[in-house]
Amino acid sequence: MRAQESLAEIYKPWISRISKSLARGEELRADFEQLLDEFYNRMLQALNSGDPNWMDALLDTWASARTQTELEARASSLPVILNQIHLITFELAREKLTESDALSLMEALLPIYLHAFEYATRVEMDQNIAHISGKLEEANANLERLDKSKSDFIAVSAHELKTPLTLIEGYTTMLREIMVTKPDYSVTQIHLKGIDNGTRRLREIIDDLIDVSLIDINLLSLNFQPVWLNRLMDIIKGEFAEAVQERNINFDIHSFPGSDEMIFGDNERLYQAFRNLISNAIKYTPDGGKVEIDGRKLPGFIEVTISDNGIGIDPEDHALIFEKFGRLGNVSLHSSGKTKFKGGGPGLGLPITKGIVEAHGGSIWVESPGYNEVDCPGSIFHVLLPIRKTPPDSKSAKLFSPLIDMENIETP
Ligand code: ADP
Repeated sequence: MRAQESLAEIYKPWISRISKSLARGEELRADFEQLLDEFYNRMLQALNSGDPNWMDALLDTWASARTQTELEARASSLPVILNQIHLITFELAREKLTESDALSLMEALLPIYLHAFEYATRVEMDQNIAHISGKLEEANANLERLDKSKSDFIAVSAHELKTPLTLIEGYTTMLREIMVTKPDYSVTQIHLKGIDNGTRRLREIIDDLIDVSLIDINLLSLNFQPVWLNRLMDIIKGEFAEAVQERNINFDIHSFPGSDEMIFGDNERLYQAFRNLISNAIKYTPDGGKVEIDGRKLPGFIEVTISDNGIGIDPEDHALIFEKFGRLGNVSLHSSGKTKFKGGGPGLGLPITKGIVEAHGGSIWVESPGYNEVDCPGSIFHVLLPIRKTPPDSKSAKLFSPLIDMENIETP
């Protein structure tokens, strides 16, 4: 007997037996018997035509009926069912047909089963991948929403804090003007200075929060002007002179190739970035330590290095410290000072510095063998700034054109 004849003749009575062993419950069984009927029907078509693809559309329908729980568990159902159908078909063929008919039937069915098995596995795999990607996208969207609401919260709170702070500053100024004429002004002056220090620090923190939220949403705008790094460093040196003396730090600024060259950048923002790095270098270096600024010229870039022989940074924190609130450290040390040894801040300095450097088209990274307060292995912060010989916008280019021409004559 030909294989298709054997199958056509006998598959109907098998259906209820296969369905009994695979489906539990009367209702489920009736549905399953219908599906099996279609399955064998298609198998017959595949046998007749010699094309196993006849099974595909049915397998697609079966696969799309996978439940959410099966998808969640990534439980494989189709290949398992196919395997069982195959085994039972084989058993029944041996029972009901002559040995040679059973063998020729199974021989003819095997490539169709193999194709169906492979196809079903692939369809389920694609479904699993689509399901996982969907979940990942959902998780990503949730994270982005969370991050955005965090950034919005920071931006809104910073702006809200600015108003009462301005009031305090205004009333302090008025109070000073009133008190300056009074006989006991010298005592009041000490208190007023305390208020001034507090409000200044508060303003710095609020400004940092605003900067960090601007960087977050890529809205940090730069005001491109001519910059000479050596002049910038001189101003910073002046700012830290007192702290350096107090902490007995050996603070060296070397003149390096490129430091006296005019490049275009945002003076104020670059000043803020280098001040953060230098203030950290001083802050995380014990009294009597060394802080050094050096650099070199590379093709298209100037590299500035800020090295210290301070407490160092664990390699696993090298990326984290550039993230906002990435490393909060010991909370009890927070706001204990900008240059005091290990005086922690809100952890916004480096994220802002990175934002400024990257807005210039540069990059920043740190090198340090590790964190050790006894051996003090030190850290080296590298800042790579592009050598921009003209400002990016045409308005500033026009404004500074005489200067740009002069530079071009001086350094052909
Ligand atoms: P903070 O306000 O805490 O100083 P920053 O963003 O400037 O915030 O620095 C983040 C963290 O990176 C610091 O808390 C400190 O742990 C580490 N860090 C930064 N610079 C140095 C340095 N030069 N040496 C050792 N640790 C540093």
